[in-house]
Amino acid sequence: MQDAILAAMKDAVLKAAVATRSVHASTAIDGVSKDDKSPVTVADWASQAVVSLELARAGHGAIPLVGEEEAATLRAPESAALRARVVEAVGRALGPVGEDAVLTAIDRGRATPGARFFTLDPVDGTKGFLRRQQYAISLALIEQGNVVAGVVGCPNLPAAGTNYDEADALGTLAWATRGGGAFGCAGDQTSRARRLSIAPWSAGSPVRACESVESGHSKQDLSAELLAELGSPGTPARLDSQSKYVVVARGGADAYLRLPTKKDYREKIWDHAAGALVASESGARVCDVDGKPLDFSQGRELTTNRGVFAGHPDAVALLVEAFRRRGL
Ligand code: AMP
Ligand code: MG
Repeated sequence: MQDAILAAMKDAVLKAAVATRSVHASTAIDGVSKDDKSPVTVADWASQAVVSLELARAGHGAIPLVGEEEAATLRAPESAALRARVVEAVGRALGPVGEDAVLTAIDRGRATPGARFFTLDPVDGTKGFLRRQQYAISLALIEQGNVVAGVVGCPNLPAAGTNYDEADALGTLAWATRGGGAFGCAGDQTSRARRLSIAPWSAGSPVRACESVESGHSKQDLSAELLAELGSPGTPARLDSQSKYVVVARGGADAYLRLPTKKDYREKIWDHAAGALVASESGARVCDVDGKPLDFSQGRELTTNRGVFAGHPDAVALLVEAFRRRGL
């Protein structure tokens, strides 16, 4: 595959993590509400700017970037202080960059999906970021509707173990290419890359599950019911962002459940593209709650899917069946 593109993607994500960490290190992290009421922070904008600038510097500026954020709010005259903080956070990662270059880089992420494009969630799990828990910087390359490369930076995710509530000092970096396997290493790249693979599981064994912290993002009472039906009562581990896909990919959980809370909600491609590839390349089955593969060819949203299951194929098959029986 395109090794140079993957290397540039990893580099961009790691540099973006320097920017998001610098925002964490500053005392106040406050969210600004977007039109859809979801929070956005200095880190979201800074991370999108860094990834956009780094991809361009590596020679990939011509590949459209479909990012979650845009700079309109930042450009407003009354946002001068916020803008300055974004520029400062970008500078911590890349050295001094001018304000115009930062705003232009953020808005390069407004491209529409086409035959070949990057998709970026600069801070996935912003609520986790605000709680100083798990979040991810998630970057994928999509070609003809297929995710062909994905990088998930999890700056607060420990290399192993199940303590997800505190921020790890090193974090974790995971990546995958289509057909090339999934890999991970410590977030500072000091540890050697190791191949990721899901844990063995067989029907009747307990399902070590994970799900969103936010009950508005996944129906937690229903996941408890489905898991109980599989003979696995108890509460899944809860952590924000695509770090859930990484945890499944490295064998730390048998299944990630994301059960629709609203009939009309459609998942965003940047919330799943990179993580889903990391999980599937580690042996997981990734599909929606009806058992259909995630379809990344439909634009900015997974319009033909609802919810997500990712995990050991046998466990996912039973979850799909348990969901189907409910006729929801
Ligand atoms: P998580 O950290 O796994 O809970 O996922 C965070 C992502 O959930 C955000 O990036 C949002 O785009 C997305 N999100 C927002 N509202 C919903 C919803 N109603 N259902 C599912 N996901 C949502
Ligand atoms: Mg997100």
